[in-house]
Amino acid sequence: MPRRLTLQAYFEGIRNRDRSVLGRAISLIESRRKDDQLLAEELLTRCMPFTGKSIRVGITGVPGVGKSTLMDRLGMQLIEKGLSIAVLAIDPSSSRTGGSILGDKTRMENLSVHANAFVRPSPTDRHLGGVARKTRETMLLCEAAGFDVVLVESVGVGQSEIVLAGMVDCFVALMLPNAGDELQGIKKGLLEWVDILAVNKADGKNAIVANRSRVEYQSALHYVPHRHADWIPKTLCVSGLKGEGLEALWSGVEEHRNMLMQSGSLEKLRTEQRLEWLNSVLRDRLWEQFCSHNGVKDTFQTVEESISCGDLSVRQGARTLLNLFRDSNL
Ligand code: GDP
Repeated sequence: MPRRLTLQAYFEGIRNRDRSVLGRAISLIESRRKDDQLLAEELLTRCMPFTGKSIRVGITGVPGVGKSTLMDRLGMQLIEKGLSIAVLAIDPSSSRTGGSILGDKTRMENLSVHANAFVRPSPTDRHLGGVARKTRETMLLCEAAGFDVVLVESVGVGQSEIVLAGMVDCFVALMLPNAGDELQGIKKGLLEWVDILAVNKADGKNAIVANRSRVEYQSALHYVPHRHADWIPKTLCVSGLKGEGLEALWSGVEEHRNMLMQSGSLEKLRTEQRLEWLNSVLRDRLWEQFCSHNGVKDTFQTVEESISCGDLSVRQGARTLLNLFRDSNL
């Protein structure tokens, strides 16, 4: 089998929702090779008119909160309704630690083998920005392949959840049923992105405490300004394991989508996200070019050392390096 297909073969495979070709096209997007990147760019341009129609849902939550169990169950329920589902992930830990938080176990056993689903593990990259770019592009390919729903999960560590919130229409946070501790530890800023907050594992003896947590979250959300003036974030109790509350969760997603469509906010939101994406791609590319610049590479360590021992101010150090970079780009 050739390592690479032609542009036309990738395009037709994607449009016919051939999961093997889609997988190979995503590998092309993830490749660091220059020629692959050029072809990936052409492919994305070709696919562009067929993108944008999926419901984009982000699901975040700390490791162990039950994301994969819930997505497997929810995904299967949606398939029963006649929808097709793509599941993507943002896990920046995989490149830093060499082992990913998400990838080490068999996840989503039912979805991963279903013909109407496509499950792709997180891309790896040295930077969260790189992981995010590849995930966004993968999302576009999945849309061109006609998946009705794209679920994107984030591991809920570092900035991954904020990056996720910036690429989906509806942002769902999963919480453990012990709000007291969680409310204290909850990341500042997360709540203002949340469209739906679901307290998971609300089953057995946890059901009561989960509902108490839900009420606490509901009142916490009340004090946080939401990014859409027309939306009051929903809170609910679910059990991914038992499949309980998932209908209500999905109704919440649909209601949120209707609100976005009726208020004209969906296009506005997606445009804002595209422009922010442009900024982040430019930042990443410039940073890459800066770091691989010979003069900068030769001098970086010296500047760092001088700053460390107090001989050079940070401003001066930055100016020295920027001058080196700029002069050779004139
Ligand atoms: P993830 O790391 O967020 O993807 O979490 P997993 O889906 O792998 O679940 C972590 C653990 O919690 C597993 O042992 C699951 O069986 C368990 N779990 C997941 N969902 C539920 C739930 O709704 N109720 C209960 N009681 N346990 C659950």
